[in-house]
Amino acid sequence: MLDLTYETPKPKVIAGAKQDWELVIGLEVHAQVATNAKLFSGASTEFGAEPNSNVAFVDAGMPGMLPVINEGCVAQAVKTGLGLKADINLYSAFDRKNYFYPDLPQGYQISQLYHPIVGEGQVLVEMGDGTARVVRIERIHLEQDAGKSIHDMDPHMSFVDLNRTGVALMEIVSRPDIRGPEEAAAYVGKLRQIMRYLGTCDGNMQNGNLRADVNVSVCTPGAYEKYMETQDFSHLGTRCEIKNMNSMRFIQAAIDHEARRQIAIIEAGGTVDQETRLYDPDKGETRSMRSKEEAHDYRYFPCPDLLPLEIEQAWVDDIASNLPELPDQKKARFITDYGLSDYDASVLTAEAENAAFFEEVEKASGDGKLAANWVINDLFGALKNDGDKEIEDSPVSPAQLGGIIKLIKSDVISGKIAKELFEIVYAEGGDPAEIVEARGMKQVTDTGAIEAALDEIIAANPAQVEKAKVNPKLAGWFVGQVMKATGGKANPKAVNELVSKKLSS
Ligand code: ADP
Ligand code: MG
Repeated sequence: MLDLTYETPKPKVIAGAKQDWELVIGLEVHAQVATNAKLFSGASTEFGAEPNSNVAFVDAGMPGMLPVINEGCVAQAVKTGLGLKADINLYSAFDRKNYFYPDLPQGYQISQLYHPIVGEGQVLVEMGDGTARVVRIERIHLEQDAGKSIHDMDPHMSFVDLNRTGVALMEIVSRPDIRGPEEAAAYVGKLRQIMRYLGTCDGNMQNGNLRADVNVSVCTPGAYEKYMETQDFSHLGTRCEIKNMNSMRFIQAAIDHEARRQIAIIEAGGTVDQETRLYDPDKGETRSMRSKEEAHDYRYFPCPDLLPLEIEQAWVDDIASNLPELPDQKKARFITDYGLSDYDASVLTAEAENAAFFEEVEKASGDGKLAANWVINDLFGALKNDGDKEIEDSPVSPAQLGGIIKLIKSDVISGKIAKELFEIVYAEGGDPAEIVEARGMKQVTDTGAIEAALDEIIAANPAQVEKAKVNPKLAGWFVGQVMKATGGKANPKAVNELVSKKLSS
């Protein structure tokens, strides 16, 4: 059973319609397996290589060539399944999905229709406002990618690049549990995050190694609950499928547009046709590509070139025992172990590399909350302004940042001076404690020195003293003067205490 411990967000209701409508969305996400070789050949999967340079004979559909399964791709699919808390099928099999297209030299795609390698799983999708929804995974199957047709390089000819042909994809099929555009984007983001943690897909949407077919339907309030009770799809509206989306922004815009289009049809007394549509980002609309094909249109049959795939439980267990800590667990641990807020823990665990960096800063400084603040606000801010640098290229190491935090905690420097110190370390490197020593940045905590400076200021400004005695708000002026006189190095707490003591005497 699914563990629905989170508050379920309200489904999206479309404004401007005559009555209330809710959205129902199911996604088929195609994730390129992170691997060096293709699913059934030894050809390289390198992105951006010279066109048609990574093509084995079997990829080109040459007669007499036989596919050979890449064990690494199978292991990656199993790992992904385990990361999505899914059932792993020890028996799976490959089928031929037949269709004709210039970028598919075999004339069929090898996929897994009847016996996918991964069965039912689940993903927790958090919405950033404290609400979350469990989205059920129906299945994950392994299949080949197609090549790429190029129509815009020559006015009279089309070209084809087969480098991508035969690259392994995992098709992750969700149940129709997603209820709005933002949730769809959050779902894709969560899959991406989990697979990046696992190292099973790079999740680079621009390069097309994570793409989604988005199924959208609309229904009246209450219908989805009936579907959930019975799992009977007839309670839901007719869906349209928007193909091949590779941007979070377009996924959201396409869903929004598609929902409005369907509502307008139904409210005008028409019915929605089940069809496959394409999103046009320039026009911001979807348009019909073809009427929805059914499985029988593809003449699926078991691939005679490949034996069914049988894997051993011990092999699956071995992969399971080597899984890294996943985002949900890591986030929960950051909240309990370091006392971080939900938001901070989310930001720090978005990428495994950021989380690891933070934990090293925490270790070096002994203060989780300060470490989180400095990593999120100061370091991420500086990296962003510095040409959007990745954390791996941070000029400040965890040890250096930890060192700065330690100096604040032991009252050697003030928070304000620490910002200056951070900038110096970021630009010039060096040991924070040594820099503070060498450049005289130490905070003055010696109350004698602060008192001497304050006494001078009081003596020179008798009128201000009289005013401040009547109006305590004016004490701030004296604090500012002392800070100025000490070059910003006086301990602010000590200054405040002394000022109020002197002015009240
Ligand atoms: P196909 O490959 O024919 O598109 P699949 O079963 O592989 O079919 O995928 C169907 C997808 O559509 C799944 O993600 C499923 O959750 C989703 N889906 C099914 N019915 C609806 C519906 N009424 N509204 C929205 N999504 C739906
Ligand atoms: Mg589909």
